[in-house]
Amino acid sequence: MGTFQSLNSIVYIKQIEAEMHKAQLKNKTAYGCKLRKMNNDTYRLRKNVMSIIYDANKIVKNYDGSRLPRVEVRIVKQSPCESNLVYGYAYLGENIIHIREDVAEKDNYSLYHTTYHELVHTLFNQEHDEKCKLMKAGSERITKKEAEEIFLKYYKRYNK
Ligand SMILES: [Zn+2]
Repeated sequence: MGTFQSLNSIVYIKQIEAEMHKAQLKNKTAYGCKLRKMNNDTYRLRKNVMSIIYDANKIVKNYDGSRLPRVEVRIVKQSPCESNLVYGYAYLGENIIHIREDVAEKDNYSLYHTTYHELVHTLFNQEHDEKCKLMKAGSERITKKEAEEIFLKYYKRYNK
């Protein structure tokens, strides 16, 4: 780094680095998952997840009129042989979530649960909490209304 570099250009470089990091991270899979090929069916599954994020945005908008930051959604497939089977995962605080293809089916009862769980991880930098029905590591069946209420509770906690 040259000594004469202005502060502005350093900030700009940092911004580019952050964007590059995010561009790589949103397609970086974990737990033996692979990105699903982008085709109409993958878009359909992605839309199912996006519609829950849309609901989450409505909840936040009704509460204080604001909007959630944009969340990158990827649909992934996981080998059934993988020892650590996951419904989805998120990059903490990075606004990126990956949802398993079968979980992203509209009629899968885990869809809203998984999406809200991953949203709380990625938007609010929240780790697992075994005392919380939504944020415990293991799955517990909860209703959509419960998931929405708990999501709003985390939103309030992190947006005071
Ligand atoms: Zn989790």
